[in-house]
Amino acid sequence: MGKIAINIATGSIQKEEIIVGIDLGTTNSLIAIVRGDTHEPIALKEIDGLTLVPSIVHFDEYGNTTVGNPAKELLIAQPERTIYSVKRLMGKSYKDVSTDAGFFAYHIIDDNTDALVKIQVGQKFYSPIELSSYILKELKKRAEHILKTTISKAVITVPAYFNDAQRQATRDAGRLAGLDVLRIINEPTAASLAYGLGAKKGEEKTIAVYDLGGGTFDISVLTINDGIFEVLSTNGDTYLGGDDMDNLVARYWQEDPGEGNSDLGFGSSIDKTLMQQLRVTAEKAKIHLSNNDVFESEINGTPVRITRQEFNDLIQPLVDRTITACANALRDAGIKKEQIDAVVMVGGSTRVPLVKESVSKFFGRDLYDKLNPDEVVALGAAVQADILAGNNTEMLLLDVTPLSLGIETMGGLMDVLMPRNSKIPNKAGRQYTTQKDGQGSMRISVFQGERDLVADNRKLAEFELTGIPGMPAGLPKVEVSFLIDADGILKVSATELRSGVAQSIDVKPQYGLTDEEVEKMLLDSLTHAKDDIKIRALVEATTEAQQMLDTTENFLSKYRDQLTQEEVETTHTRMQILREAMTAKDKDRIQHETEILNDVSRPYAERVMEGALKDAMKGKKIM
Ligand code: AMP
Repeated sequence: MGKIAINIATGSIQKEEIIVGIDLGTTNSLIAIVRGDTHEPIALKEIDGLTLVPSIVHFDEYGNTTVGNPAKELLIAQPERTIYSVKRLMGKSYKDVSTDAGFFAYHIIDDNTDALVKIQVGQKFYSPIELSSYILKELKKRAEHILKTTISKAVITVPAYFNDAQRQATRDAGRLAGLDVLRIINEPTAASLAYGLGAKKGEEKTIAVYDLGGGTFDISVLTINDGIFEVLSTNGDTYLGGDDMDNLVARYWQEDPGEGNSDLGFGSSIDKTLMQQLRVTAEKAKIHLSNNDVFESEINGTPVRITRQEFNDLIQPLVDRTITACANALRDAGIKKEQIDAVVMVGGSTRVPLVKESVSKFFGRDLYDKLNPDEVVALGAAVQADILAGNNTEMLLLDVTPLSLGIETMGGLMDVLMPRNSKIPNKAGRQYTTQKDGQGSMRISVFQGERDLVADNRKLAEFELTGIPGMPAGLPKVEVSFLIDADGILKVSATELRSGVAQSIDVKPQYGLTDEEVEKMLLDSLTHAKDDIKIRALVEATTEAQQMLDTTENFLSKYRDQLTQEEVETTHTRMQILREAMTAKDKDRIQHETEILNDVSRPYAERVMEGALKDAMKGKKIM
């Protein structure tokens, strides 16, 4: 089965279509693959030799788009047509971003509502999803050009703190770009994977991922346990990064260009173009100082100079802020510094020597910094893609359940044992009991979906637990457990704990479900959320009422002779009224009538039980 393709770029034979890994960044994006021949992850390079594509989209007056470096060049000249940092707007409403609206030079529609933001360029409006899809399309195009094959499947990374809306927006952007997004994974998880951390069976590790990019800083603490990554805490600053270092250097020159002389031509009022030149040179200085002790140049004929020591003094407060965030992240995770097994460095700004020294000193250990910090996230995404493609059997498959898994309980309700997005492998269990006296078997029906009624979900399997010894209703303890192994196979078992009777079945949870079907099921659950809550409440009230009726009936048949004629009559009347409420499917009435029946029967039930107790105690000594 499967088609065979030859990868012209690497000369190797590919059994299946390549799945790419994409780092969709705030400042830069890039795409990576795992080489079929060497099994090593590599970032894809165009003939320009560059792997990074600036996450910038420019629109000309006809609506044509340019992405990446050519767009970056238009940032100053056409600020209102050149969109940057769109990742900051993903899945957000105007209310969410109103406080940092000053950061954006382009026009964000201010309708002051909870609706998702739109960006206006000329006469047209774009959503962040569309804008991101232009970046993804460019990456896809590059990859297809380099690999000489079509690309339609991808793994995309997002920050660990991204919520569901932001993750969904990223997924949608992928789809718009013509990519089937097989998995959205956390950036710190990807960075760890790129170093092969925690991908081996049985491995347990606690990792800190320090990510200092151009404009953002994130620190994440994660644990890896047998292939399952769990984010324990995140901290950081969404407006702290290499750009701030550049600004500090630019301002330093503006005030004192390097000769200790404060009047070398910049003065206090400098125009936009000069400020931009200062910033560009400042970035050059910063990068130069990562490997040298002094930087010297000139701007418009004015000499500028800065030493590594001066630069370090300037950025020290900024670095200190990141260290404080690291301490906070550890505190939130409930982890001591000494418990961290590895510190992974991500983002271009971690090349700054002072940053490395400070982080290494704080954690008291060597850093994982051998891979290119700009590429490490994309490389990790490629590793994940390779695992999904089934090419890497050494590593565990890290996966999550796309939909909730549960069983049918009384009244056709869905009882979720494993919520959607649960990591796999995984296990979950819950105890159930019987409804009827002497009930000898129990039907276990397994469903997948987000709706409250199993009828609206998808049945995966069904089996009968038989041989439960006769016991009064409510006494048997039936433990139902779900176990999903690393291959996504679900094993459902049921055991009656008192007798040890057991039964189990294997299910393949995703079998036959396409991405579209999963999506439709999720959408349906959102659209029907309100109806579902109502139905669930009615079903629960009805179930409780039925139990009350059964118990009362049972009691009457056993102890009728100890009740007055009036008690029996009132009870029958109330039972009849309750049945009518149930037929009318009126939840409030059902609940009300159940309470009344309970109130009516309680006094005589207590009296009878007390009598029975006295009889039982007769002639016995209380110890
Ligand atoms: P990122 O957002 O991860 O792509 O990081 C981009 C940031 O890294 C920018 O602020 C760059 O100026 C900075 N950067 C790139 N190379 C170096 C370097 N060699 N030394 C210091 N900073 C660098």
